[in-house]
Amino acid sequence: NTRVGVLALQGDVREHAALLAHLGADVVLVRRPEELSSVDGLVIPGGESSVIDKLSRIFGMQEPIRTAIDAGLPVYGTCAGLILLADTVLDGIDGQESFGGMDVDVRRNAFGRQTESFETELDVPALGEPPVRATFIRAPVVERVGAGVDVLASLADGTVVAVEQGSLLGTSFHPEVDGETRFHERFLDKARTRAGTSVR
Ligand code: GLN
Repeated sequence: NTRVGVLALQGDVREHAALLAHLGADVVLVRRPEELSSVDGLVIPGGESSVIDKLSRIFGMQEPIRTAIDAGLPVYGTCAGLILLADTVLDGIDGQESFGGMDVDVRRNAFGRQTESFETELDVPALGEPPVRATFIRAPVVERVGAGVDVLASLADGTVVAVEQGSLLGTSFHPEVDGETRFHERFLDKARTRAGTSVR
């Protein structure tokens, strides 16, 4: 069976773990390098990206995660997780770093205070019908998309909120809180493909 991890330093770890288990994966909560090397995919949850960044350095996870991303590990980042996958974080706080891997610029808390949270229906052509019910919670947006990056979804005003680059997938919003399974299934497909082809 496919073994995938949820980075379990901070954030909505349990919601992702439950959804992945519901989809039939074996789920590992990843806090150490050994746990990371036992999985064929990793979800980076929503939460607070600056805290996850700091804890990843304290726990000695930053380099292993960067190395795994370079080696093609499928990674799905939601919200804070998307921020951590971005090569450039436009307004990080406190010397915030990211793991990087996706050729995008991401802006944190892009919707400001008044509209910190909202829900909307999103067309995601790569996922087909029906549209995605998307919950944005102090969400980031993608402000620049590099040449190798596919935009999977944008808001009506053109703001980019879901991106994919090879093995990496990122959404500004939180499918795991709406019972939306298609992004996680897409991630699991990549993990399964990798499990079938990799020599570990
Ligand atoms: N604003 C948070 C951050 O900067 C992200 C919020 C979320 O993950 N829901 O990390």
